[in-house]
Amino acid sequence: AWHQERRSVSVLGSTGSIGCNTVDLLARNPDAFSVEVLTGNRNVKLLAEQAVRLKAKRAVVADESLYGELKSLLSGTNIACAAGEDAIIEAGAHPSDILVAAIVGTAGLKPTLEGARRGALVALANKETLVSAGALMTQEVKNGGATLIPVDSEHSAIFQVFDFERVQAVSKITLTASGGPFREKSLDEMQAMTPEQAVAHPNWDMGAKISVDSATMMNKGLEMIEAFHLFPVPSEAIEVLVHPQSVIHSMVSYVDGSVLAQLGTPDMRTPIAFALAWPKRMSAPSETLSLADIGTLTFEAPDTVRFPALRLARECLQTGGAAPTVMNAANEVAVAAFLGRKIGFLDIARVVEKVLDEGGLEPLSDLDAVFAIDAEARLRAAAVIDRL
Ligand code: NAD
Ligand code: MG
Repeated sequence: AWHQERRSVSVLGSTGSIGCNTVDLLARNPDAFSVEVLTGNRNVKLLAEQAVRLKAKRAVVADESLYGELKSLLSGTNIACAAGEDAIIEAGAHPSDILVAAIVGTAGLKPTLEGARRGALVALANKETLVSAGALMTQEVKNGGATLIPVDSEHSAIFQVFDFERVQAVSKITLTASGGPFREKSLDEMQAMTPEQAVAHPNWDMGAKISVDSATMMNKGLEMIEAFHLFPVPSEAIEVLVHPQSVIHSMVSYVDGSVLAQLGTPDMRTPIAFALAWPKRMSAPSETLSLADIGTLTFEAPDTVRFPALRLARECLQTGGAAPTVMNAANEVAVAAFLGRKIGFLDIARVVEKVLDEGGLEPLSDLDAVFAIDAEARLRAAAVIDRL
């Protein structure tokens, strides 16, 4: 066996896309992992099923009104249940060797911070937390003696080929981007795109929010900021390259001209397995990569005119302070408005830019400031949407 001791795992957001992929890996490896807590937002049926299947100790639903339903679904088992926002935060604080952070958006910030504070191995999918809380979050990781392992495929790739012992020898990191479903669309065509068209990603099957972020390419913008906090490189050394086949997951360039990359088929179970088994490796059911079958890999420079979110994220990375916090909050609100058919596709970046132009980008003093700025930016974004 690849493992010696059984490791305990909690999964925040087990009912989502990353969550289900994680549950799949845990179910295939019952000797390697025991399961503590699983959490979901509203889907109590799936949550209860997962908890029974994995013999979890506890299941937590964010929506308090669903407590009774969860309780009855789990009656006759010895799985404890709880509901509400505080119970989700407690799920992060509950002891476990590994905490998989797979809630979408800043809703995941508090429970993920709990994992950092108690020194867990935090397998981080929830990139918004790192974008929003930035250096304050990595400081909590340090203070708590936690280990942060990225699950985002690009960052997992970089983590696997980044020489942390010879940081000076790294000249740049290159995040590859599929370009999303609208890679070849004109601005005119994008104007009319519906939520259904935006969430139909060519290579990856993901949650609605990140799928829309891929279509605007804000996802790559968030990932630039995520990379800045995960890897000791200056912001200018973080580059984006469009690579529609999503085979090369990202690259690190060294001063001697060497470029190291990690490749694989587009299946999130590979980076999730990497994080769960770290520092070892476990097998994952991902399809084997056959470059001979693929034949051709192509690359393009990103287009910041058609994808202004990339420009906005670059500016926020350079401005620092609360700029990424504001950008992330405004983007979450704008994406929800687009999915709710209140605004058009191109309005997403417009809303984000307007909220950023209003200012309020001062340095972040502490985590309370992050929560306050996030809340305020959400109100401002809602007001901008009302005026559109
Ligand atoms: P998803 O929408 O499929 O799942 C989100 C999960 O969070 C669900 O379990 C949901 O119940 C839970 N949740 C949502 N709102 C909540 C709230 N207010 N309180 C508590 N729980 C809540 O999303 P996903 O695609 O799995 O993405 C999860 C995170 O991983 C995101 O931050 C995303 O950017 C990141 N990520 C996803 C992928 C992917 O392939 N799906 C790849 C890289 C990174
Ligand atoms: Mg990614």
